[in-house]
Amino acid sequence: MGLTRSALRPDLAILTMSGYLEARPKVGYIFGKKPSEEISKNCFIKIKVKDVMSKPTVVSEDATVYESILNLFLNDAGTLFVTNNDNLVGAVSRKDFIKMVMGTIDIHRVPVGIIMTRMPNIVYVYEEDSILDAAKKIIERQVDSLPVVQKTVEGNKEVLKIVGKVSKTTITQLFVKMGEDE
Ligand code: ADP
Repeated sequence: MGLTRSALRPDLAILTMSGYLEARPKVGYIFGKKPSEEISKNCFIKIKVKDVMSKPTVVSEDATVYESILNLFLNDAGTLFVTNNDNLVGAVSRKDFIKMVMGTIDIHRVPVGIIMTRMPNIVYVYEEDSILDAAKKIIERQVDSLPVVQKTVEGNKEVLKIVGKVSKTTITQLFVKMGEDE
């Protein structure tokens, strides 16, 4: 079909959770014995962030506000995650940019690091977290998008590497897919 495994992963996750398919190690996917009659709310607990996350749009902390806005448009993103030496240090939303553009700063000179929301105030999730937990964080913290991170140690410091993102769009796409597959 010309589809990659990662493109199929969310569909396979939903079909497995709902009982239509069973995942067998070394065999792959086979038809489930008893397809459940409804896709239960358990799906949201069982589907992991890594099954549905998408590619994050990332900008370096020293990029200018202007360069960052271009990046936002070119990648059709609503939020940029900001890094320093590839480590997560902040986030900046489209409204953050609008606020800056309405002010008096020189967007060609000021680095995005000056205007971003910075750690430790960034809300994030891990790949193994459930999609329900990600959705709860999005609602409770009133943000559009969460970076998916892996914690590692560099020197004697814990740092976060960005490996994906989960956004309101991700959750909505999943919701629609579940409705259509039922
Ligand atoms: P917008 O501001 O465009 O409506 P958001 O609601 O996502 O987009 O952002 C609201 C504020 O939260 C912004 O100031 C932004 O910098 C910040 N923000 C965005 N994503 C996160 C996140 N994952 N964790 C913490 N703060 C965030």
